[in-house]
Amino acid sequence: MIKKSKVVLLPCAEYDEEKIYVLLKEGLSLLGGIESLISMDKKILLKPNLLKKAEVEKAVITHPVVVGAFARILREKGYENIVLADSCGHGTTKSVIRGTGMDTYLEKYQIPAIDYTEGIKVDYPQGIQAKEFILPKELLEQDCVISLSKMKTHALERITGAVKNSYGFVYGLHKAKGHTQYPSADSFARMLIDLNRCVAPKLYVMDGIVAMEGNGPGSGDPVSMNVILMSIDPVALDSVFAKLVHLKPELVPTNYHGEKMGLGTWKEEEITLVTPEGEISMAEAVERYGNRKFHVDRTEVRKNIWTRMAGALNIFQKKPYIEPDKCVRCGICVQSCPVPGKAVDFRNGKNKAPVYDYKKCIRCFCCQEMCPKKAIKVK
Ligand code: SF4
Ligand code: SF4
Repeated sequence: MIKKSKVVLLPCAEYDEEKIYVLLKEGLSLLGGIESLISMDKKILLKPNLLKKAEVEKAVITHPVVVGAFARILREKGYENIVLADSCGHGTTKSVIRGTGMDTYLEKYQIPAIDYTEGIKVDYPQGIQAKEFILPKELLEQDCVISLSKMKTHALERITGAVKNSYGFVYGLHKAKGHTQYPSADSFARMLIDLNRCVAPKLYVMDGIVAMEGNGPGSGDPVSMNVILMSIDPVALDSVFAKLVHLKPELVPTNYHGEKMGLGTWKEEEITLVTPEGEISMAEAVERYGNRKFHVDRTEVRKNIWTRMAGALNIFQKKPYIEPDKCVRCGICVQSCPVPGKAVDFRNGKNKAPVYDYKKCIRCFCCQEMCPKKAIKVK
C-alpha cells in the first residue's frame, strides 16, 4: 500500500484572528495534534517568511494574524519555550516585524523575536547537493522548528512555499553566497532539499489567504487564494499550492528534486487532502479553491538538451531588467547581488538606474527580490 502524505486545506477568506485560531486548531487536530509532533518540553523556533520590511497588505511576509493565532495555540497548549526568528533578505527579524502587528502578538504571548548574531558551520555529510551549512547559533540552540511560510511566486523556483521558506535558516550573508555556490534552479533546489532534511522542521504551515502572484517573491501582486495549508511533508504541501494555481507540481524544481531526494512527494496519488469537512480529491480542491488566472511561470519545459545548451550559451534565459522610471537609486539591488564584482551596479553614475552585466549575472534574482520599488522585472 502507498504511504500517503497528508495535507490539510483550511478555507479562510479573511485575516480574522478568532477564525484563524479556530481553523488552525482544527488543522492541527487533523494532523494528529501538535503534541504528537512536538513534546511539551521542547524549545520551539517559529520561522515565518520575513523577506524584508513591507506593508502587510503587500503579501511579502507571513501575515501577523496567522503567526499570532499559531502562537496563541502553542501558549494555550502549554509550550513554554518559544522564540521567533528569520534570516531576512534585508533587515533583521526585529526591524522587519516592527509595526506590522506581529510584534504586538509576540509581546502579548511573550514570545521573543530574535536577531541572529552568529553563524556556525554544521556538517551534513549525508547531503546530496550540500555537505555543510552555516546556520545561526540561535537556531541551533532550539530543539525544533515550525515553518510558517507565505504562498508566493518566485523568479528562480517558480514558487516559494514550504520548502523555500527554509532558506531563512541560513545565516546572514551566507545566503547570498549560496546563490553563487548553487546558481541554477536545480542545484539551488537540491541544496534546499538538503537544508530541509538537515534542519527538519516538525511542521509546515502556509499562509495563502492572500498570496502573491506575478513578480514575486518581493514585488508581485497580492491575490486572494483563501486557504491555509498545513503538512509535515513540505513537498506535498507545495504541490497542493502548485495544483491550486494550475501549475504542474513536477515543474517546480523543489518538488521534482524533493521527491527524488526523499523529502516528500508531489504525486497526487500519494497525497491525502483533508479539510475540516472531510477528505476531498485534488480535483475537487482545484475546482473549489483553485485560481486558473494566478500569474505564475507555467512554462512546460523543466530541462532538456535544448534548455541545457541555451543555459551554456547564456541565451533564451530569464533575465532581470530595471524600469528606470520606478528606480529611486537606493542601491539595494547592488548590495544584494552576490556575484563578486557585482553583476548589477551604478556603472553610469549614481543619478542613473543601475545597469546589468549579463555576462556576470547568474540569474539568482536576489536583486529583483529585494528591490523596494518593484522596479526590477524578469523577462
Ligand atoms: S533596488 Fe530597485 S529602486 Fe533601488 S536602485 Fe535597484 S532598481 Fe533602483
Ligand atoms: S544581477 Fe541580480 S540576478 Fe544577476 S547575479 Fe546579481 S542579484 Fe543575481
